[in-house]
Amino acid sequence: MVTNQWNMRLQEQKIKEQICEIGRRVYNKGFAAANDGNISYRIGENAVLCSPTMICKGFMTPDDICTVDLDGKQLAGKRKRTSEILLHLAIMKARPDVKAVVHCHPPHATAFGIAREPIPQCILPEIEVFLGEIPFAPYETPGGLPFADTVLPFLKPGTNAMILTNHGTVSFGEELEQAYWRTEIVDAYCRILILAKQLGGVTYLNEQKSRELLDLKKRLGFDDPRFHVEDCDLCGNTAFRDGYKEALPAPKAFDAPPVFPAYLKPAAYSSPAPVASAPAAATSPDLEMLVRAITEQVLAAINKS
Ligand SMILES: [Zn+2]
Repeated sequence: MVTNQWNMRLQEQKIKEQICEIGRRVYNKGFAAANDGNISYRIGENAVLCSPTMICKGFMTPDDICTVDLDGKQLAGKRKRTSEILLHLAIMKARPDVKAVVHCHPPHATAFGIAREPIPQCILPEIEVFLGEIPFAPYETPGGLPFADTVLPFLKPGTNAMILTNHGTVSFGEELEQAYWRTEIVDAYCRILILAKQLGGVTYLNEQKSRELLDLKKRLGFDDPRFHVEDCDLCGNTAFRDGYKEALPAPKAFDAPPVFPAYLKPAAYSSPAPVASAPAAATSPDLEMLVRAITEQVLAAINKS
């Protein structure tokens, strides 16, 4: 019993240190100015560690970290918990697989949220495999329950990151590092899109190549809302159509995505035949290289944590 408690203490201390480490990365990356952003980790059935309010995320120590229950009531910690914890808790309650949540204001992704420009899909392989569609939770004044509830319609299985309209991003996962990476990937992608736009625009992948990426994603064991929603487009940012009370965000800065049938529907293209024997189709040199690159990234991530 004593050993158990001791182990739990050690585990808790380790997680607090990790929260501080992620805070440093968020701050150093310029994802959270001054005291912006917050980070949390669920350590038990009804206990969550989180960053406090009014502190720079780049300079936290384990002593600063608070403990709250799943309703946001503070259980421990010398500082007051972040006011945005309810957002984290809403996600954890709706998605028991989620243990870690990172919320911040990365400039490029937040710019999409302010312009209300949907983040196009079927452009960059890593985005398709690691993220997929990034929905836009509608704007609400930060802090209270109505703000926390804005994410609820968009928490389908396979969603890992979201834009908070006119505010920032929230990303989540089983581990802190994974949740943080998702923010980093979204912001890097948004930055690339803005740069590509300055060079003239983006080029969408064709249907076959887009499907190959989703096949690969499935094989690697990642989930995606497009694996569950039969009437969404392959590349059209429509997997969350039913979640938007206001109009579906429509592209203004970027060309509209091509219209391809949903992943669950038969492919529209006919040639070159996606080789009836599926394994052959999956071993084109390009795809093999991509599988290797992504597998290496995943393995590196696992080894690191
Ligand atoms: Zn915020």
